[in-house]
Amino acid sequence: KAPLLEVKGLETSFSIEGKDYNAVDGVSFTVDRGKVVGIVGESGCGKSVMSLSVMQLLPKGIGKIRNGEVLFDGEEIQSFNEKQMNQIRGKDMAMIFQEPMTSLNPVFTIGYQIEEVLHNHFKLSKKEARNKSVQLLSAVGIPRAAKIVDEYPHQLSGGMRQRVMIAMAIACQPKLLIADEPTTALDVTVQAQILELLKDIQTKNDMGIVLITHDLGVVAESCDEVIVMYAGKIVEKTDVESLFTKPKHPYTKLMMGSIPRLEEDTEKLETIKGIVPSLTKMPQVGCRFANRCPKAMPECTEITPQLEENEQGHEVACLLYETSHPKEGVLG
Ligand code: SF4
Ligand code: MG
Repeated sequence: KAPLLEVKGLETSFSIEGKDYNAVDGVSFTVDRGKVVGIVGESGCGKSVMSLSVMQLLPKGIGKIRNGEVLFDGEEIQSFNEKQMNQIRGKDMAMIFQEPMTSLNPVFTIGYQIEEVLHNHFKLSKKEARNKSVQLLSAVGIPRAAKIVDEYPHQLSGGMRQRVMIAMAIACQPKLLIADEPTTALDVTVQAQILELLKDIQTKNDMGIVLITHDLGVVAESCDEVIVMYAGKIVEKTDVESLFTKPKHPYTKLMMGSIPRLEEDTEKLETIKGIVPSLTKMPQVGCRFANRCPKAMPECTEITPQLEENEQGHEVACLLYETSHPKEGVLG
């Protein structure tokens, strides 16, 4: 059986002052049914662009898929037109974002918005849609759902709004859910509840989830597999246990060192010196992390590291691990 989602050699470019730059540069991965795949990295590393590419929600005229394939349930969808995408978006694959206030319409009630999703994909009477909305709100842990259904987004707390977004996302029982920083705007307790809820729904529906986050704590709690992205490329890919027990890429290791204690919700990755190179200044050869890497060697700016399997099921893109460039004594 084909994997639920298969992304092959995806290149997504953004047009800046008439020139195209790859924000996602040759990314490949798969998501199986019933699995949570985490995509982690700092902001600007291409994780959101990756998910918008899969959903075909790139800003028109600016972002475009330049190369590669996206297969959903074995079917190539990156060439789908708007109408075809509308049929699977929301129904087979759904997405939730960081700030529900921007995705919920402030002038309509919660119920109206959920019912709209239902009407887009199913023939339901008004009453059936209403009942289903209340049911969905209860299912995501919203108390007094029969009352909340008639309220407006601003009447709810951030955590409750995120639950509403999840209710909308699962309304049609999608096979794949892409969650882009779904808990970032929430406090730690609510964050844990939302992650638990997602996990719960995922197990019940055998859904695949792509969980995009800058927070390794979130990854540790929720993911089966992890993809670490840096500057538009995958630098490390493995199962969650291997990532935490034996991280390989210097960037991953630095992120690990910068996991803060739960109570201090500081900017998590700031302890890594420097910033991700901007799209227009991306080095064309060599390792994109070289200017920040504590292990950088002279050849790192001359040879582009390739993502290679280093141990079974554990891939890394770093010259320190490339068998063709063996380095001694640095694999600490
Ligand atoms: Fe650091 Fe070189 Fe590895 Fe890049 S290739 S992560 S610069 S050691
Ligand atoms: Mg983002």
